[in-house]
Amino acid sequence: MNTSVIALPDEAATLELGARLARVCDSAAVIHLYGDLGAGKTTFCRGFLQALGHQGNVKSPTYTLVEPYTLPVRTVYHFDLYRLADPEELEFMGIRDYFAEDTICLVEWPQQGEGVLPPPDLALHLHYQAQARRAEITAVSPAGAAMLQRFTANKDRS
Ligand code: ADP
Ligand code: MG
Repeated sequence: MNTSVIALPDEAATLELGARLARVCDSAAVIHLYGDLGAGKTTFCRGFLQALGHQGNVKSPTYTLVEPYTLPVRTVYHFDLYRLADPEELEFMGIRDYFAEDTICLVEWPQQGEGVLPPPDLALHLHYQAQARRAEITAVSPAGAAMLQRFTANKDRS
């Protein structure tokens, strides 16, 4: 199955989703995060980063576009492209270096970098559902499909 749908009743569930996905990312990975403002993209990233050993808060790097996290297992780059005026700006930032081997890239507002951003392994869509949220995770590469398979297999154990 290439898409997994998960109900997220509260913030803790969004954090846990991030943590669970972090645990199945055993190699380089690119995850694109879609959803309206406040849908929980940054909350997801916080759960993801904290599961890999980051202590402390995570803010959306809206003005700096990217925030690096050097963690025990690997380097994670957290992008927020909301304010990117032109995808070409990514070229000037040296985007290719960020997507080097062995790094994990979490990208909020990937639509803004279309055409320049490398394709993802997983696409996560967060939707409002009354006061809660719903997530849809889609695998878009063979590596992403393997991650999603591990994620689904781990479901009953976390
Ligand atoms: P985004 O990065 O998508 O703009 P944020 O993660 O910064 O969104 O903010 C999401 C807001 O919604 C936060 O106030 C967070 O506490 C809340 N939130 C996150 N997940 C859920 C959820 N599953 N149900 C209800 N509220 C949530
Ligand atoms: Mg955000």
